[in-house]
Amino acid sequence: MKANSHAKRARKRNAPIDWKDVKELEEHWISIDIDPWLCYYCSCTMMTKQERHIEHMTPLCRNGTSLKENLVPSCVACNQAKHSMTAEEFMEKQ
Ligand SMILES: [Zn+2]
Repeated sequence: MKANSHAKRARKRNAPIDWKDVKELEEHWISIDIDPWLCYYCSCTMMTKQERHIEHMTPLCRNGTSLKENLVPSCVACNQAKHSMTAEEFMEKQ
């Protein structure tokens, strides 16, 4: 019997991104029927880019990615309330 020691893989901090600017992200949202100016969680209307956060449905700290498929528009309040919950956990709490 040989004892295998599994080296812990260091997770890279900078996650890969498959979009180059917010415009591309907005086009992606529109293509999957997400209104870029409505909060994904509470459906409130956001007026400015300052009010709109780009939200990670699965937070980076929970092994989420920064790929388009993991991003949704969110108001500041939802983004802060959600914190490190996944989108699913957050929706359950609403
Ligand atoms: Zn919201």
